[in-house]
Amino acid sequence: MLFDVDAPAKLVGIARLAASSEVLEAKQRVQYFELETRRFIGRNSNSRMRFVWTINPYRGCEFGCKYCYARYAHEFMELREPELFETKIYAKQFHAPSFRAELKRVKRGECIWIGTATDPYQPAERRFRITRRMLEVLASQRGLDFGITTKSDLVARDAELLGQISKRNAVRVNLTITTLDAALARLLEPRAPRPALRLGAVKKLTEAGVAVGVLAHPVMPLINDSEESLDSICEAAAQNGASFFSAAPLFLKPCSQQVFFPFLEQHFPHLVRRYRERYEKNAYLRGHYPEMIQVRVRKIRERHALMSREMPEWPVDEQLELFSS
Ligand code: SF4
Repeated sequence: MLFDVDAPAKLVGIARLAASSEVLEAKQRVQYFELETRRFIGRNSNSRMRFVWTINPYRGCEFGCKYCYARYAHEFMELREPELFETKIYAKQFHAPSFRAELKRVKRGECIWIGTATDPYQPAERRFRITRRMLEVLASQRGLDFGITTKSDLVARDAELLGQISKRNAVRVNLTITTLDAALARLLEPRAPRPALRLGAVKKLTEAGVAVGVLAHPVMPLINDSEESLDSICEAAAQNGASFFSAAPLFLKPCSQQVFFPFLEQHFPHLVRRYRERYEKNAYLRGHYPEMIQVRVRKIRERHALMSREMPEWPVDEQLELFSS
């Protein structure tokens, strides 16, 4: 038994639903649950973001990135240890008619973004296909404005479908690639697909007629922020057909620091003091460093003739809010 069966009575809202969710499968270290869901499309309360609506088919994310900013979301379900975010994955019970009905709330011109808090193409998607089933509903629509952000080459599975949807809707897909160094990527994003696989997905999507961007977020000082590293990602993005590229510095809220600082101690001990000095009092870097990165990225983008990110201003200084069902 994963949870105390008596516990749900003491819990409310999403915490109660999570505690009473049925265990669907337990792999060696990851457990999948099915989560009863009242709504699939949440309203974005951050006015700085261009998108109005957010969709996150899963709660928790198996990729386990060391810098992940979304771990706090599991706390809503009373799952407080940071690693539970990557080992207890909740798949939202999908119901196509309800999803279709919810889409009626979206007014023309209002942008929807899939994957604002957890990856919609994480390993759970191979089994549950919730993102795929959502796209199948979206395929019957016209005039929608929506995008997807992922670190997974699994998105290429849906290239043809996304290409079809693109003919009648404004669609773009962002692949996040923080480094082309596979060994470094394995450290930073332990269970995410290798950078080369993500680039392969960029190619397949663009060949299917989908607009694709590459995001080198987050830029971590003295880890992946060199001109050479960022330039190589941008160059590879352009070579594989991406049309836009962006990168912005790491922000580290306290819940992320709980994982990131021990990670630094283990793999980059010489950086620990500097990161602690800069991030312990403020989750965001200010002043010269972000300005320097902005200039560096602009020059790199110009060099490879890519656009700046065409889509929403990503939350470099504000946490996205997750809707609670
Ligand atoms: S892919 Fe995104 S949501 Fe998943 S662990 Fe990495 S940063 Fe977090």
